[in-house]
Amino acid sequence: MKQIAIQLTAESPLTIRADHAPGGAATASYIPGTTFIGSLAAVHRMLYSEPEKREEFERLFLHEQIHYPDLYPAIFADKKLGRNLPVYSLPKTAQSCKRHPGFRFAESEENDAHGVRDSLIDWLLFSVKGSKSAEALSALIEHKKCPSCPATMDHLSGYYRRSHSVSVDPLDGYEFSRMDKALESEYTRLQTRTGIDRDSGTVQEGILYNRMVFEEGMRFWGVINVYDEELLPALTEFLEEAGYQSLVRIGTGRTRGMGKVTFEIKADKRAEKQYFAEFVERLSAFDLLVHAQNIQDSRYFFALTLHSPLILYDEFLRYRGTIDEQTLLQDMLHWGNNQDIKLKQIYQAVSIRRMTGWQEIWGTPRMNEYAIDAGSVFLFACDVADGTPEKAMLLRKLFELEMQGAGARRAEGFGRVCVSDQFHRERRML
Ligand SMILES: [Zn+2]
Repeated sequence: MKQIAIQLTAESPLTIRADHAPGGAATASYIPGTTFIGSLAAVHRMLYSEPEKREEFERLFLHEQIHYPDLYPAIFADKKLGRNLPVYSLPKTAQSCKRHPGFRFAESEENDAHGVRDSLIDWLLFSVKGSKSAEALSALIEHKKCPSCPATMDHLSGYYRRSHSVSVDPLDGYEFSRMDKALESEYTRLQTRTGIDRDSGTVQEGILYNRMVFEEGMRFWGVINVYDEELLPALTEFLEEAGYQSLVRIGTGRTRGMGKVTFEIKADKRAEKQYFAEFVERLSAFDLLVHAQNIQDSRYFFALTLHSPLILYDEFLRYRGTIDEQTLLQDMLHWGNNQDIKLKQIYQAVSIRRMTGWQEIWGTPRMNEYAIDAGSVFLFACDVADGTPEKAMLLRKLFELEMQGAGARRAEGFGRVCVSDQFHRERRML
C-alpha cells in the first residue's frame, strides 16, 4: 500500500450536504470521501473522453483499489505546525476545560487554553479494578475538574494535528509533541433550507435539509490509500493535472462558481516494513503504559479508534452500533478459527451518525446509512502471552486492519481504524 496526502484549498465558497445525528442536529464539518471521489470522477470524465481512458476510469474509481479519504478541516492558529501533518478527529475520550478549551502549548497570539488530555486509561482502570477501587475512582474524580481553574472538564470534539518534533514543558521538564485544534467553526456556517417538491415546485412540508458552507480560503487535509501500486503513475498524473489547474468543483452551486478548489499532493515514500515497525512500537507503548498503572492483570491491551465513520452490517444486513468481540474477530480481523484467542471488550465511547443518501459518483440517490462515528473508541483486552504465535498473529491481523480498513464503502473514505492511537497515551494536560 502507498499513501498520497492531499492538501486542498477552497478557492471559492463551498457547500456540502450535511449529515445528521439521529437527534436531527447536523454534525460533520468536513468534505466526505463520497463527495471528493464524485468530484474527481466528474473531472476525469470531462478531461478524458477517449474510449481507452474508460478502463482507467474504472480502475481509478470503481474497482476499490484506491481508497479516497474524508478531508478534514486543516486551518490552525499554531503556524509552527507543518502543513503536511495528518489531521484526525479528536477521540471521544478527549477532554478539556469547559471554560478555556483547547491545547495549552499551541503557539498563537491569543492562546488562553487550559489544555487537553485523554481519559481512556482512567476508564480502563475503572473497568479493570472495579468501582470499589479507591485508586480507579479517584482518577476519574480528579479529572472532572480543570487543574488550572474552577471549571469542570468536558468532552472536546473537533479535529487536531500533532507536530513530529518534541518540546519540553518548562514547568516540569516533561517531553511532549505539540498539538492544535482546527479552527473550522470560524470558517463555516450551517444553512437550513426547506425542501422544494420537484413536481409541483412548491415547498414540501416537513423536509428540511442542512448545508455546511465553508468560506473561501478554508483548507482541508486527507490521505489516499493506493492498494494497486501499478495505478500510481496514472493516479498521480491525474491528481496533479486536476489539482493544480483548479479543475475540481466540490459540493453544490457549482454552476454559480461555488466549490472551486485547488490541491497539492505529496507521496509517502515509506515501505510497508517501516509502517509495521512503527505500528508494533505504538501498540507496545500503549500496553506498557497500561501495565505501568499497577493493574494486576497480565492481559494484552489495545484500543481501536475510528479515524473515519465505519459502516458494519450484521448477518441480517442490519447496521451495527458497536464493535463487540465477535464482530472484531470475524468481520474486522477475519480470524478463521477464533477458538484459540480470548478477547474481551473493556470499554467503549461511541456514537452513531446517519449518512446522507447520495451517490456522488453517479449523481443518484441512495438509502440513508448508519455509521459508527469517527472518534469512537473501543478498548480490548486479549489473553495472549509475549513471544507466542498467537501474539504474532494478533499483531499481524491488527496491522492489516489498520492498513486495509474495515466495513463497507472504504473507497469513499469509510472504515479507517487506528490501533492504540498515540493520543490515548496523553494523560497530562497538553
Ligand atoms: Zn480551566
